[in-house]
Amino acid sequence: MTLPIYQSFINGQPLANQNGERFDVVNPATGQVIYQVEQADESVMQAAVASAQQGFKTWSAMTGLERGRILNRAAAMLREQNDALAEIEMRDTGKPWQEASVVDVVTGADSVEYFGGQASSIVGESQQIGPDFFYTRREPLGVCAGIGAWNYPLQIACWKSAPALACGNSMIFKPSEETPLGAIKLAEIYHAAGVPAGVFNVVQGDYRVGQMLTSDPAIAKVSFTGEAKTGRTVMADASRTLKSVTMELGGKSPLIIFDDTNLEQAVSAAMLGNFYTQGEICTNGTRVFVQRKIYDAFLAQLVKRTENNIIAGAPENPNTNFGALISAGHRDLVMKYIDSAKAEGARLLVGGSKLQPAGCENGYFVAPTVFADCTDDMTIVREEIFGPVMAVLPFDTEEEVVQRANNTEYGLAAGIFTADITRAHRVIHQLEAGICWINSFGASPAEMPVGGYKLSGLGRENGREALAHYTQTKSVYVGLAPLEAPF
Ligand code: NAD
Repeated sequence: MTLPIYQSFINGQPLANQNGERFDVVNPATGQVIYQVEQADESVMQAAVASAQQGFKTWSAMTGLERGRILNRAAAMLREQNDALAEIEMRDTGKPWQEASVVDVVTGADSVEYFGGQASSIVGESQQIGPDFFYTRREPLGVCAGIGAWNYPLQIACWKSAPALACGNSMIFKPSEETPLGAIKLAEIYHAAGVPAGVFNVVQGDYRVGQMLTSDPAIAKVSFTGEAKTGRTVMADASRTLKSVTMELGGKSPLIIFDDTNLEQAVSAAMLGNFYTQGEICTNGTRVFVQRKIYDAFLAQLVKRTENNIIAGAPENPNTNFGALISAGHRDLVMKYIDSAKAEGARLLVGGSKLQPAGCENGYFVAPTVFADCTDDMTIVREEIFGPVMAVLPFDTEEEVVQRANNTEYGLAAGIFTADITRAHRVIHQLEAGICWINSFGASPAEMPVGGYKLSGLGRENGREALAHYTQTKSVYVGLAPLEAPF
């Protein structure tokens, strides 16, 4: 059977590379190659930059209202094509249809719609200085680059392009080489909705393409989503041409459960924050701190619900709520973390092994895994695993748990469950994290800014704050009084 071959999407259409290099894309649930993609080479990159510069001229000259109208049309098209797009995301990532069909496309479309609405509201300020005055203009940056991770491919492409385009920039987007198709579909939709050619280009390939983006002097900004280690490399590379950067990186977020809370809700949060998308979510609450009085009851309910309510299997089965990890390599890495937890003395309560669900025997599944009695120095408590591995740690006092929760180089997210409203805010205000939830976990609406503290990132995506990261301020001083000069 001949496999479909996809290319980069430049200036409103697919563009072939010249060196002929291709890579395979695998469905993680089956282990089968489902299509191939041409790696962007120097010729593709040059075309991408030239067309993005041209696209920027046209797009930035349009009014915010016009840009917003087009983005809103694109959002509507994303929703109309929800099922076809969700199927692409399911096959590329291995996540269940149950999730992809209601989350991935929807949250991408929400962002495009939200920033479509914001496009006409980007304003400067004006101030009188004696007889003179000045005003500021929020001007677009020019050609921006987006580099995405593989866990929410289409959503990430939307979260980066929507604010960039709303502000009048053009964007060259590089999806992860593991999940390249969603971004092409987004480019087709933008184009069909009326976004001019060159305003959203997609270049395909691995880190080499990312490096071409970060080193190109014609690119004004890089918005990156991925591992903290890669983020540091990207930022260092971008610094050579003094690009501005937004960094959405990894985490090892705490979820703190006080003994006055609704136990069922707290267990739901822990499961959601560790097993949704097979644990491949950057904001996951992978360090679950449980106050000692309810520790045993919490674990008992957690184990029961993990054993009974999680259905791992073929992602397209509507009952499946737990899919495959992105690759064989990533599965092996997650298994190494599980082995390290066993070796370091954590108590395995459930899971801890690979899975071979019926029909998906060659897929990359790891069972939802819970370790209890974890300590702060264990490898699985310190390092981001990005898989379905929950570490549960008992604690006694509020002061102690705040200190332990902050004892990490990351600072992406944090959650707290308590019935005491005063304590809820008091604790949250002390946590070193950019995205916090009280009696909730994981929600990330387009209206809410998200981003990390410490090694989890720089800048913010979503919310009005994102507009500041895709514009630059020009100050214009206007003299009405005669200019005084000593000469
Ligand atoms: P990764 O860092 O391996 O790759 C991310 C992207 O960077 C890919 O497109 C990759 O091709 C590219 N890349 C790799 N090396 C590069 C280089 N030297 N220069 C330029 N580009 C380069 O991350 P991943 O494995 O794809 O994704 C998982 C990670 O992403 C996790 O750490 C997760 O926490 C993080 N993540 C963060 C957020 C967030 O919003 N904070 C969201 C999703 C995922």
